[in-house]
Amino acid sequence: MKARTLMLIVFFILNSTCLFSFAPPHNPKVDEIVNSISEERIADILKKLESFETRNLYSEPIRENFGIQAARDWISEQFKSYSPRLKVYFDCYHLKQQGRRLFKDIELCNVVAVLPGKDEEAKERIYIVNAHYDSVARSADGSFHYDDVNTPAPGVNDDGSGVAAILEMARVMSQYQFEATIYFVAFAGEEQGLIGSSLFAQKMREQGKNIAGVITLDLIGNIEGGNGYIDNKRVRVFSSETPSSPSQELAIYIKRIGERYFPDRIFDLIFRIDRFGRGADHIPFLQEGFPAARIMDANENYSRQHTTEDTFENMSLPYCAANTKIAAACLASLAWAPPAPRVVNERNYPTLSRGESGYDAHLQWQMPFEVDDLAGYKIFIKKTTSPFWEKEVTLGLGKVNELLIKNFSIDNNVFGIAAVDQEGNESQVASYMLPARRKAVYETIEKE
Ligand SMILES: [Zn+2]
Repeated sequence: MKARTLMLIVFFILNSTCLFSFAPPHNPKVDEIVNSISEERIADILKKLESFETRNLYSEPIRENFGIQAARDWISEQFKSYSPRLKVYFDCYHLKQQGRRLFKDIELCNVVAVLPGKDEEAKERIYIVNAHYDSVARSADGSFHYDDVNTPAPGVNDDGSGVAAILEMARVMSQYQFEATIYFVAFAGEEQGLIGSSLFAQKMREQGKNIAGVITLDLIGNIEGGNGYIDNKRVRVFSSETPSSPSQELAIYIKRIGERYFPDRIFDLIFRIDRFGRGADHIPFLQEGFPAARIMDANENYSRQHTTEDTFENMSLPYCAANTKIAAACLASLAWAPPAPRVVNERNYPTLSRGESGYDAHLQWQMPFEVDDLAGYKIFIKKTTSPFWEKEVTLGLGKVNELLIKNFSIDNNVFGIAAVDQEGNESQVASYMLPARRKAVYETIEKE
């Protein structure tokens, strides 16, 4: 059935601050997933990862159950044990010696587990949740030597915490059928410069994959700052500096869903790709043009990063489990939701105009494909100076694909739209972004 083209005309109501507000609904299946995430299982995974002693990219199999190769085999076996529906594989690359960190040729393998989505069209949309399973630590004398490869590097928080989270999420979520496809990925070579994720993100772009969102979990289990601050309620979400960009919208979605399911948590959105001079595996995806965000501890303890102090004993298991639940709720919400509406035309120009009058806001959109259980849309509006959406209007009148707001400036406001299905699952918000203005080039004539 083709979507009806129905124009809704809204007069003035958007200037009213008194909007209908309903308690945002929980999807009972998301609650079920959250409740199935097991702190005990996360503890077992963290202790197992610590038991490999090091997961340095160059660590050698000097004894059984030691080093990165043993770790990656174990991670792959875990994924395989959860469900036959998870397609598990090693994504390997042969790297040449280059620079100080890649001091000799090496084979690098990411561990990938794919949970296929529902039907032909829906499953083309991909979400990637990831962590890095490699670790690194200073040598016994306190200095840093990349070629000191078998030195202990427990890496329990960095990034055993993220690996435990994605494994536990894969275990629980592989028992459900989602609309979109989910990739659970444990990257390697993060500590040598985001290598595994860079190669993987590049491959995804070259293959033309439709990656709708990437969530990196790196350092999610520390509550004690090196400065003495302790915080087990707050979590940071890094995304992008660009206002209303798909990455910022992904971070805002994480906050929106996070606050819905975990009202006692504080979500600190940091509109930066990462901390000064630091990085993580979401960055290569941003560089390839995919929406990506990183969930991370609120407090850092540098004496426990890249040192032998990054142990199970020194991290907070309940905090790690809480962040795993947050990531699971967000990922499940994204993967069950319809795709975000398209708000650009074939020339990639936003489908937003001043209407026939020249003074209205005329929004148009299209679903990328027909969604059977589509219920309607939500329109979001904010001032250009506001980081968060300020007004929200539900268009619950069936399938419409345009909206005219009388006497409302498209220049002074930002607009976004989400699709909602009959279960109440909300898509990411697609915002109408001002396109970059091309630099004008004029020819001049040289005169004597
Ligand atoms: Zn890390």
